Amino acid sequence: MTRDCHMVWDDCLRTLKKSVNPQAFKTWFEPIRPVQLEQDVLTIQVPNKFFYEWLEENYVEILKKSIRQELGERGRLQYHIPDQSNTGLNKPLLPKTSTPQPRPGNSKPSAENDNEPVPGYFDAENIKNPFIIPGIRRVKVDPQLNTSYTFDNFIEGDCNRLARNAGLAIAKKPGGTAFNPLVVFGEVGLGKTHLAQAIGNEIVKNFENKVVLYVSAEKFTNQIIQAIKNNSVNDFVNFYQMLDVLIIDDIQFLSAKLKTQEIFFHIFNQLHQNGRQIILTSDRAPKDLEGIEDRLISRFKWGLSADLLAPDLETRMAILDSKIGDEGMAIPKDVLEFICYNIKNNIRELEGVMISLLAQATLIRRDIDLDLAKEVIRNFVTTINKEITVEFIQQLVAEHFNVSVDKLHHETRKRNVVIARQLSMYLAKKMTNKSLKTIGENFGGRDHSTVIYSCKAVQDMMDTDMIFKDTVAELEKKIKMSLND
Ligand code: ADP
Ligand code: MG
Repeated sequence: MTRDCHMVWDDCLRTLKKSVNPQAFKTWFEPIRPVQLEQDVLTIQVPNKFFYEWLEENYVEILKKSIRQELGERGRLQYHIPDQSNTGLNKPLLPKTSTPQPRPGNSKPSAENDNEPVPGYFDAENIKNPFIIPGIRRVKVDPQLNTSYTFDNFIEGDCNRLARNAGLAIAKKPGGTAFNPLVVFGEVGLGKTHLAQAIGNEIVKNFENKVVLYVSAEKFTNQIIQAIKNNSVNDFVNFYQMLDVLIIDDIQFLSAKLKTQEIFFHIFNQLHQNGRQIILTSDRAPKDLEGIEDRLISRFKWGLSADLLAPDLETRMAILDSKIGDEGMAIPKDVLEFICYNIKNNIRELEGVMISLLAQATLIRRDIDLDLAKEVIRNFVTTINKEITVEFIQQLVAEHFNVSVDKLHHETRKRNVVIARQLSMYLAKKMTNKSLKTIGENFGGRDHSTVIYSCKAVQDMMDTDMIFKDTVAELEKKIKMSLND
């Protein structure tokens, strides 16, 4: 049987799925459609040019590999990009209920507008009269951005790579990428607001004429309430429809606010249909938003939903290091490590510790060292192991060697259990002030000579095996650093 393009592509997808993470797979590979297979050339259709560029930039090697695997060494890939004018993105979604204002800004190539003076200034804070003054062709909107949130100080890590890169792509071509809307979601304190604002700031920097607005969902709701009161909903809608970039923060706040959702739905459709960029943040994935109408949720899924995860240790250290640098301060590396080991889930908390630490050091004129950091951190973490215990060491070592703590107490000759047991004894001797006798008792009632023997055995292994020595050092550090595990 000869294989057609679908079969070949399905097989490629199977390989690709193994080498890219699930979210990237869903974003970049699922939307691709195979269209033709001619000899060794497989043609695939991608949604737009940007998509193609992204694939070429980021996935070319694994694509090549999978194609060769399926079609042999001469196998090649060709892209097909459909005509953008009928991608379906521009289909009207709603009958118009109000006439859009004449557009300010630069949505069309508008040389006539470019040198015009700026006749009006719109301040979105001013709810009493937040709307365009009729007859004015070009208004200036205060984007309401906090300029200290930038891409430069938004440190990249595995936890935010997709969202950050999508944001950068949007900032280059607002409304012109597949990421419309971009929904950034994640738990509190992981950088949603920072990233959303960084995108806004970057667009303002790159495109002088684009009208950008950042608004919290709460403020957006309040403006609607005011507009209803003042009988000016149409003006409100018109104002929002002339934006080039709309950023709404914390859309979970719209939950159960039906009137607000209805108006937002309308604005969303108008903006999207006109190729304007929409950026939303949420504390949970769109599908998990409760009290938000299905028709809105389905629109949120049109673009890209990218989550922010808790950063790993290296990223936390990079973030903290950069923040401390911004303050014009420096702290010792072991203190930095200690803080990042202990504050894991929330970057805002990480900053909190840093600020307290800097404040304490200045106020009481003390050097920032590990002891001071420990004092400060106790206010931030709830459960603390005040001292290192034998049980705690057993737990960490057992975990590392993938054996149960229980096994350390019993007679087993299995090599990894024996090593885990000996190493736990060695670390207990080194890191607690327990006697040899007490340590032995903690290991199923062994006597002190067994502990001495174990310590010697570990020392010998460390002298001969560098990898083992590193493992010991790593575990020792982990034990020393963990206050709250
Ligand atoms: P959220 O909106 O998700 O609750 P924020 O955007 O307010 O979180 O971020 C909390 C704090 O953490 C902010 O001060 C922000 O600057 C900082 N932060 C978050 N992620 C990063 C990052 N990747 N690099 C640098 N700072 C970050
Ligand atoms: Mg926020």
